[in-house]
Amino acid sequence: MNRSNIEWTEVTWNPTTGCTKISAGCKNCYAERWANMQYKRGIIQYRNNFELTLSPSRLTDPLGWKKPQLVFVNSMSDLFHERVPDSYISAVFKIMNQATIHTFQVLTKRIERIRLLAGQLNWTENIWLGVSVESSEFINRVEQLKQAPAKTKFISFEPLIAPIIYSNYEGIDWVLVGGESGGRARKVEKEWVISIQKNCKQYNVPFFFKQWGKREFNPDIYDPSTHKDHPFYAKGGCMIDNKVYRAYPNQN
Ligand code: SF4
Repeated sequence: MNRSNIEWTEVTWNPTTGCTKISAGCKNCYAERWANMQYKRGIIQYRNNFELTLSPSRLTDPLGWKKPQLVFVNSMSDLFHERVPDSYISAVFKIMNQATIHTFQVLTKRIERIRLLAGQLNWTENIWLGVSVESSEFINRVEQLKQAPAKTKFISFEPLIAPIIYSNYEGIDWVLVGGESGGRARKVEKEWVISIQKNCKQYNVPFFFKQWGKREFNPDIYDPSTHKDHPFYAKGGCMIDNKVYRAYPNQN
């Protein structure tokens, strides 16, 4: 099991690795950088570098994890990538269906594929489905998410690189927001974050703010969460007007 530094999950599970860039949010893809590093280190799962690769030997991993975990599925890929066969996606779902002690967070930019597969997959309640949306240009992913059969649906506005002109959060159970990090990060603006937060409040949707990205993007130069000893430490800080927002979906 891979313990994760990603703030909104506990462990990652990558039955596939590699991907293909499909929209602006992919520009500085962390998974690509990670794949490059692992490839150079000779790690077998990354033998094809960032090319989409199936890892059937990892499929049953969650069945061996005894403690209930929040599991981010394919943190280094996209389960609904066009080169992942339907039968392989079904196999991943069968494991999630069996491993009911865990909660699986499936995040995709390829939500359109779910409509085609919907009848073949068993959406047990432990499978959360989310879409990544980096700007209003891709808000259509949210509309498609709303039609999907998962019980818990979430939006990840990360990396948020433009304002989101959309305010209908009906049917959404969780919203994550984060700025882009890394050397070539694009700046997130506070007003974009606040606008999403307001919509969450209006629809009673739990709001999770991950981080501002780079330190210089943080509107508060004194943000205490930029200090390493802070319990919610993030390099660029994670507070909005001196408060941390780390809500999770209501599971009742
Ligand atoms: S969809 Fe995700 S994993 Fe794939 S290239 Fe884009 S950011 Fe990277």
